[in-house]
Amino acid sequence: MTDIWTDALAGLRPRLGTETYELWLRPMVMVAVAPGVLQLRAPSLFMKEWFENHYRDAVVQEIFSRTREQYVIEVGVAEEGAVHQPLPAGADDASPRPTTPPARRSSAPLGLSERYRFGTFIKGASNELAASAAHAVAEEPGKRFNPLFLYGGVGLGKTHLLHAVGHALHLQRPEVRIVYLSAERFMNEFISAVRFNACDQFRKRYREDCDVLLVDDIQFIAGRDRTMDEFFHVFNALYESGKQIMVTADRTPSDMQGMEDRITSRLNWGLVADIKPPDLETRVAILRQKAEDERIPIAQDVTVYLATLVRSNVRELEGALVRVSTFAALKGVAITQEFVREVLGDVAAPRISTQLSVEAIQKAVAGYFSVRMTDLKGPRRHKGIARPRMIAMYLSRELTGSSYPEIGLRFGGKDHSTVINACKRMTEIQTSDPELRGIIESLRHQLVGHPA
Ligand code: ADP
Ligand code: MG
Repeated sequence: MTDIWTDALAGLRPRLGTETYELWLRPMVMVAVAPGVLQLRAPSLFMKEWFENHYRDAVVQEIFSRTREQYVIEVGVAEEGAVHQPLPAGADDASPRPTTPPARRSSAPLGLSERYRFGTFIKGASNELAASAAHAVAEEPGKRFNPLFLYGGVGLGKTHLLHAVGHALHLQRPEVRIVYLSAERFMNEFISAVRFNACDQFRKRYREDCDVLLVDDIQFIAGRDRTMDEFFHVFNALYESGKQIMVTADRTPSDMQGMEDRITSRLNWGLVADIKPPDLETRVAILRQKAEDERIPIAQDVTVYLATLVRSNVRELEGALVRVSTFAALKGVAITQEFVREVLGDVAAPRISTQLSVEAIQKAVAGYFSVRMTDLKGPRRHKGIARPRMIAMYLSRELTGSSYPEIGLRFGGKDHSTVINACKRMTEIQTSDPELRGIIESLRHQLVGHPA
């Protein structure tokens, strides 16, 4: 006799390939199954998260295509000391059951990562508004900021805050029905629902059986007409009955190309809050917390050093710490500044270039465009000078990592918002303007000797 998980595995194996299957799916053990819920156990937290991020949707679809039922997959982690060898699914009954049988209401909302809680989120100037708004939503869902829209670049904590709201709400008010999912998953489920004539079920789930809807990376549905249409109706149904909606994206509602106006305008109804890259203090605090959590022995000055090397986003920052500590453990050496430089040197070098000054960049840009330094730093705004100036500001930010106000100062005392705008515009224009991209590339090459 086979079971739902064994069947799903059999279907997934040819689709995903043997290697992926062996590595990521076979180690997952079925713990329990109830109508609409399949509970699995992963051998480690890492495996759990990897599975959830990469294969859970495929499993849901596979099961859907077999049973025509939308299952939710809950993944637990094997207790420490438990057998880490994958067990054949048939041996489940004999294996210990580290998790309670599925009880939808009492367990944490589905799909939320254990680690992403308010308690582990470090607040700083860069994310203060977003974090406060998220707290407000968790305390009074549907009341103050509805919808709440968080946006910012990758790895800056949007998903973390979204999950944190789910956890906090669930703790305070377990009866509240929280639905969390990525916009991609929303689309996939919707497509399956259409294909298998299960739209009623789909609608009931998102429009009726939901008190708080948390959608990650909404930009994903831009340009996907039917999904946008469906989301629009879900939004209206929830909004009209005073239910909370919280959404994240990598840009503002209005900047999402291909998004229908009626959705954009609704996303603007509540609070739109941004998250920026963290400043040095916040980066240090994040590193310290992470080091404590993972019991990584790293001295304060080394933490600061690491935080000056990796500036772009928190995910990279965490990755750098993990990388350094893994190497240190492997080599059996202490984590010193020299060691950090050794391990991260090639990664971080293009960004740090501590020797490279804003002035050197100004000179290079002035030379390239045959404009005078005084003009570059001066107030004149015509295109022949404004463009080189913006390029120089952009490169200063990228290559020296100096703060916006500092760059402003070095350009004849300009306001930091001027620098921010310049950087933003250069980033935007570059994507559609190969000529500009080429210029920046060649200047960068001239300055640091290698491309980004
Ligand atoms: P995004 O969704 O914006 O791409 P994530 O929320 O996935 O970013 O964050 C990337 C990683 O950085 C996660 O591990 C997250 O926990 C961590 N992180 C981001 N911001 C913070 C913060 N302010 N405090 C602690 N950890 C953070
Ligand atoms: Mg995210």
